[in-house]
Amino acid sequence: MLGMSRLPRVIWDDALTSYDFGPGHPLAPIRVDLTMALARELGVLDRVEMSGCVPATDDELALVHERDYIQAVRRVSERGEPDVSRGLGVPDNPAFTGVHEASALVTGATLAATRAVWSGETDHAVNIAGGLHHAMPGHASGFCVYNDPAVAIAWLLANGADRVAYVDVDVHHGDGVQTVFYHDPRVLTVSLHESPRTLFPGTGDPSETGADCTSVNVALPAGTGDAGWLRAFDAVVPPLLREFQPTILVSQHGCDSHALDPLAHLMLSLDGQRTAYAKIHRLAHELTGGRWIATGGGGYELVQVVPRAWTHLIAEVSGHPLDPATPTPESWREYARARVRDLPPLTMTDGREPEYPDFADGYDPADPVDRAIVATRKAVFPSHGLDPLP
Ligand SMILES: [Zn+2]
Ligand SMILES: [Zn+2]
Repeated sequence: MLGMSRLPRVIWDDALTSYDFGPGHPLAPIRVDLTMALARELGVLDRVEMSGCVPATDDELALVHERDYIQAVRRVSERGEPDVSRGLGVPDNPAFTGVHEASALVTGATLAATRAVWSGETDHAVNIAGGLHHAMPGHASGFCVYNDPAVAIAWLLANGADRVAYVDVDVHHGDGVQTVFYHDPRVLTVSLHESPRTLFPGTGDPSETGADCTSVNVALPAGTGDAGWLRAFDAVVPPLLREFQPTILVSQHGCDSHALDPLAHLMLSLDGQRTAYAKIHRLAHELTGGRWIATGGGGYELVQVVPRAWTHLIAEVSGHPLDPATPTPESWREYARARVRDLPPLTMTDGREPEYPDFADGYDPADPVDRAIVATRKAVFPSHGLDPLP
């Protein structure tokens, strides 16, 4: 596929920063602004094709969302007045003027990535502003108004894809995407997240298995670090995807699993996160002929974590992963210091080299991470013809 494939695609438009719930809200658009600046100044964007986007149409949004909900969001959008019955105008999702246009543009960007890959123009495409996985068909939830990954998957199904795998590594359960495809065995959703006992949205238990066990949930205990997280990924994701044989892979890369994230309690490092990105990339080449659409997602440590995590993601998508020891450019540090009151990171690594034993070589029934892995495998592996225990 080298030589034949065209440059991977990064979808970007400065207007994507208009997805802005206002001062003090955790999902601050500075996080994608600082990411694009870091990727640009490290030369990462020189190795991809940059492409713009247009807002998703109402018909495209209606692949997933109720028409009444889209109309309600449009009404909120005109005047910025709340509609609490639709989840807009509450602390998580403040109402703002232009919310429809900003949200439809985020979905449009993920659709642009999806069209580029499905048409064969490129193998991989990424929208770091996307990944709004909590939005429900009829209401906003968890900072998410329209569910761009779900719309992209529904679009793929409507355009001839027969088996879509969705892998969600955000620290929160990918509840919106799971809900949309819960009864559809053509879509395998796999979400690795902090246990619903300690984190929003309170769902994502392994017992939520959906049609033909195609809803897969790995609920990890608070405090799980790189080694446990990656061990769980390897024990669940590759075997299920190999069995499912997807036509195309859609992934959500929320980086709020990082130890510094203010909203959650997993303990991953940047190095654990970029290791996961590389694993997902390899699975696309192994299983889907390289067809891979990646999105951003959550991530609320705006300076130390998000820009570096998603610059690594774009670099992985480009086929030229960054040496983690790479220093951050001084010009970027100056830009970051001018925008936020924080000392920017000096290098692209947290200095970790995650190592962990393979689950297949044995497990400890008393270990909380291994118990989480076993619960997930017991819930869904037999339906896929796989042994739950090594
Ligand atoms: Zn999240
Ligand atoms: Zn590749």
